[in-house]
Amino acid sequence: MNHLPPLAFCLSPLDRAEVVRRDAAALKALEKQTDAQAVLFLRGDPALADNTLLRWPFSKAVRMSQVAEPILLGLQDGAPLYAVDLLPDAETPGLPEFTDTRTAGMRVSIEESGILAQARSLIEWRRKHRFCSNCGAETHQAEAGRKRICPDCGTEHFPRIDPVAIMLVVKDDWCLLGRQESWPERMWSALAGFMEPGETIADATAREIWEEAGIQCDPSTAEIVDNQPWPFPSSLMIGLIIEAVTVGITVDAHELEDARWFSRDEIRAMLSGAHPEADIPPKIAIARRLLEVWASRS
Ligand SMILES: [Zn+2]
Repeated sequence: MNHLPPLAFCLSPLDRAEVVRRDAAALKALEKQTDAQAVLFLRGDPALADNTLLRWPFSKAVRMSQVAEPILLGLQDGAPLYAVDLLPDAETPGLPEFTDTRTAGMRVSIEESGILAQARSLIEWRRKHRFCSNCGAETHQAEAGRKRICPDCGTEHFPRIDPVAIMLVVKDDWCLLGRQESWPERMWSALAGFMEPGETIADATAREIWEEAGIQCDPSTAEIVDNQPWPFPSSLMIGLIIEAVTVGITVDAHELEDARWFSRDEIRAMLSGAHPEADIPPKIAIARRLLEVWASRS
């Protein structure tokens, strides 16, 4: 991949504390450290203070959470940092303001956005995977939140990550963008889709383009440009540029409202906000990174 500056959600200063997680006594000792802190979440969204993740002393955050177990995110210069998820109906007076995660991802520093992505994905995974998918029993947290274990059948459950291929289809000096009906007017973006079991990244990319736009691509030209954790709730966006073999478009109306070819000059205009009738996603989105990379090539 190119050496590009990290996108939002892509950098974290934390040591994920692999060894400590397996040592119950060490985990207990960590919680008692005076520099232990926690970031706070309510309904999947973080508390911010002056465009940083609000950090409370660990003991105060645990008192406030009432029931949810804290999740150890990792160590920062030896100090443990936890994520604490407040009850959905927590009394809000006295609590800080909670900010939509997407907005927060654009406001916090790049290092904190990685912490935010990790914490939100783990909290959402825990909320939706309380019960064992093998036998139905209630699971319990292990290794300070890195996994859950079923007390009845012993199955270990690990946080899921869903790979998504997001691709810029190109042909000579043209690239393909699509739009969905629910998007803001004027908005166009790269096509994307979840990978399916038994697929390579390149094959998933070519399949998505065929299904959504009826265009054949050459999987051997698939170039991974960048990647990005996308904590809504647990995607990993794999950004590619791939060359089309055919150019005729047949839109799958279930997936897209429209798709069309844009010239490189048009993309450059869109990147500078100067296109008369089309916009592209903001900087937080890997789709924009794909367009920036391709537009910078001559
Ligand atoms: Zn079980």
